[in-house]
Parts: sequence; structure tokens; C-alpha cells
Amino acid sequence: MVFEKRRPGAVLFDRDGTLIRDVPYNGDPGLVEPMPGAVEALGRLRRADVPVAVVTNQSGVAKGLLSPDEMDQVNAKVEELLGPFDAWAICVHDDADGCTCRKPAPGLVIRAAAVLDVSPRDCVVVGDIGRDMDAARAAGARGILVPTEQTLEEEIERAPEVADDLSDVVERVLSGAEEPVPAVSAPWARAMGWSRW
Ligand SMILES: [Mg+2]
Ligand SMILES: [Zn+2]
Repeated sequence: MVFEKRRPGAVLFDRDGTLIRDVPYNGDPGLVEPMPGAVEALGRLRRADVPVAVVTNQSGVAKGLLSPDEMDQVNAKVEELLGPFDAWAICVHDDADGCTCRKPAPGLVIRAAAVLDVSPRDCVVVGDIGRDMDAARAAGARGILVPTEQTLEEEIERAPEVADDLSDVVERVLSGAEEPVPAVSAPWARAMGWSRW
């Protein structure tokens, strides 16, 4: 369809090291600090009517390093600074729990997509490490890695797609989708399959 905008069903962001600076097992809302460009990137996606969600491993809960309540407070701070998300999918387990949600397992991506009523195949998963990309791949989603100093060289090499920063992610995700829909002066032109005047 010539006139149809192509947009992803949703963009699912890893939290730590992607949307906010990674403070391991953080339970203190005061330490929440957005990554560069996060506010702007989310704003552009929201204005383009693309649902945004968070898919995050929080094994600190299973490890007893932060309480569910502290985690909730941190997540509330994230929304205060970055705006509301259409869905949150959180894994509070640890590797030994053998759950199906802890990335690199696909559970969080599948859950967030289900909540948003879109197919995982129409989702983009944005993260800073290989686990995020593996979860995307396992769920059939498009993965985009935004490396930080913590990202391993091997993870960058293995990534299906690598972006410079969150602004670059939005460019990639919306490329071609933000162009204005061409005006058609006569409705019957489209009905007859005339795509141009
Ligand atoms: Mg991360
Ligand atoms: Zn889990």
C-alpha cells in the first residue's frame, strides 16, 4: 500500500543502561538518571503513535538486594522523568529460577507484546547487551543494540543491528514512517489504483 505508513507495533526498551544509567540493583529513586536522548526519543515515538514499553530483568529482587516496593519506586521515578509507558514487563527472577521471562528468554517481549495487542514480530527491542538481542531474536522481534561502555565487543559483533544512540534508534524505527501521507485530491483516484497525480 503506497499510502500506508509503516510503523512498528511497539518499541520495547530495556531499562538499565538503555533508558536510564545502569546502577546495579538500584532501589533508590534518587539515583535514576535518564540516558542521553531518552526523553526526546520517547517523545518522538509517542508523537508518532508508536506504543513504548519497558522489558527489564530485575534479579536484585530474587537476590534480596532490593524489595519489590523499592523497585516500584524506581520504576515510578522512571515514568516521572521519561513519561508513561504503555506496558511494563519485569522479570524478578534469577538465573537459577529457570523462568521463561528472564532475558535472554523471550518471555518479557512476548508478554509486553501481548499486553499491547501486537505481534512480537512487529516489535522492536532496544537494549545495551547481548541478552536483550537474544531475547528479541527468540521472540521473533527486531533487535537494536545501543552499546555503552559496559557492552562487550563480542555483543556488538553479534548484534543484528547497532545504533549510535537512542536518537539513531528512532531514526531507524521511524524511517519512512514519518513522511507525510501524500494528499490525494480525488477519492476515486485511490479507488482506481492511481497512486500519483
Ligand atoms: Mg541493560
Ligand atoms: Zn523471570
